[in-house]
Amino acid sequence: MKLSLDVLAFGAHPDDIEISCGGTIASLTQKGKKVGIIDLTKGEMGTRGSSEIRKSEAEEAARILGVSVRENLGLPDTLLQNTREYQLPVITILRKYRPQICLINAPFDRHPDHGNASQLLVDCLFLSGLQKIDTLEEDGSPQIPWRPSFVFHYMQDRTFTPDLLIDITDTLDTKEKALKAFKTQLNVQDPGDEPETYISGVSFFEGLRARARFYGHMAGVDFAEPFKAHHPIILSDLSVFQDIKVRR
Ligand SMILES: [Zn+2]
Repeated sequence: MKLSLDVLAFGAHPDDIEISCGGTIASLTQKGKKVGIIDLTKGEMGTRGSSEIRKSEAEEAARILGVSVRENLGLPDTLLQNTREYQLPVITILRKYRPQICLINAPFDRHPDHGNASQLLVDCLFLSGLQKIDTLEEDGSPQIPWRPSFVFHYMQDRTFTPDLLIDITDTLDTKEKALKAFKTQLNVQDPGDEPETYISGVSFFEGLRARARFYGHMAGVDFAEPFKAHHPIILSDLSVFQDIKVRR
């Protein structure tokens, strides 16, 4: 039977998702939602580790977050482009999992792959709904067009003014466990023979918690993750807010 997902999160590199929205994903899976992670590249150009090591680290992080699937599209790290060649595998995966909600990279970030991934994904999220772009299921049957209803950009390194803050107070620990699964990339106490990177040290790891604390403060909870809505947010009424307890 085909697996449809509630939420599909895309990242340019394995660990983008955990860094930016790991707490949000853990909250969803703990409520029984079906979530998938799609890494566009294997992160083979990363300074530390290798694509094989990062693959096993990503699998462990996915297990900790409780996601239903994690796939890697194998697009070239540091060479992401918004071309039809790279659009087709993304469109195929969107049509395969038919998510209602997608989480994607920020439109602009420190690593150029993140902004390039965002542009590629934004176009694919539209193009995936076009009948005349032909893609196939794994069994060779034609895929049915699909567009998710909601798309949110997560914050990774550079900041933006968020439209949406998700309370991750109850899942911060799970997020940090998933981050620590990336042993060669994050929270590296002893760098060994490989060079340290912008994100490998303890200070970057601690900074992620500090950022969650900052946005939690903005939201009136302990810890939160920020998002920018790609489309205006629509609710059926305001009653959803009645159940949210915040400090004001
Ligand atoms: Zn990245």
